[in-house]
Amino acid sequence: MSPDRNRIHLAVQKSGRLSEESLSLLKGAGLRLSRGGKSSLSARADNYPLDLMLVRDDDIPTFVADGVCELGIVGQNVLEEYALGQPDRRIEEVARLGFGRCSLKIAAPDSLNFFKLKMLEGQRIATSYPNILRRFLDTQGISADIVTMRGAVELAPRLGIARFICDLVSTGATLDANGLAPVADVFDSEAVMIRTLKPVDAPHRAKMDGLLTRIGGVIATQESKYIVLNAPESALPAISKILPGAEAPTVVPLVGRPGQVAVQAVCQESVFWETLERLKGAGASAILVMPIEKMMM
Ligand code: ATP
Ligand code: MG
Repeated sequence: MSPDRNRIHLAVQKSGRLSEESLSLLKGAGLRLSRGGKSSLSARADNYPLDLMLVRDDDIPTFVADGVCELGIVGQNVLEEYALGQPDRRIEEVARLGFGRCSLKIAAPDSLNFFKLKMLEGQRIATSYPNILRRFLDTQGISADIVTMRGAVELAPRLGIARFICDLVSTGATLDANGLAPVADVFDSEAVMIRTLKPVDAPHRAKMDGLLTRIGGVIATQESKYIVLNAPESALPAISKILPGAEAPTVVPLVGRPGQVAVQAVCQESVFWETLERLKGAGASAILVMPIEKMMM
């Protein structure tokens, strides 16, 4: 089946750590997705001209660079590893998506009491990310043997393949279970939206931009809150300084209470209890913090 050229194509991981959150981001952007079946390699949005290609995450940068898919959702680790091997890459990162956070770390046997990076000199290090690891070692002036493995890297020390590993870590539980401890941070990653740099015609471009605007809106609302409070007008300068990430709050007079105003603002950063206490300390009262359901800037 050849791809429908009236629709845009987005590559997402078929099944793995990024799949669920990639789909829920798209649903949050109002897309109704129907998948052919569990084994199906594609899915279709029935209220937007968008088809999803469900593939292995390693293939996503290639699909997007070749323009087979105009857009893709992938970890920065996979994107960077690909890009370092393809200097003329035709991919642009357009948005950080706030999930799939992890970091690529070098780990050593936890029996090693004292670790210095220089101890890697001349050693073997197993990894699935040889390009990122090579760059890191080069910047540290270390020469070591990199052993490339496609999976189960954490088993390499036990199997006698390499003494050290460089692998993705989020909680550290897998390292721990294999008698390893993280010793150096190599690369921090989260899921990102990428787009092809191959030329795209105007109608396609408009569909891509429309989708990216909606997704930008979903990401912005995840962090943003709407704050309403009352305050004496004289306290406004102090209160504006405390409101996190709020530009130009709306200020309206309170009827029958001279000198008192209501302040309304969209805060683009997290609002903590400490923030509320500081607002109260500056003279605010009746403070309400509300979630924002949809937003388009
Ligand atoms: P595929 O079959 O698609 O090739 P995979 O086994 O290579 O899947 P997953 O383990 O599903 O990949 O991880 C996908 C991405 O999730 C990683 O590339 C990374 O960006 C992110 N991620 C987040 N936390 C972790 C973690 N603790 N370990 C591995 N990857 C993580
Ligand atoms: Mg993979």
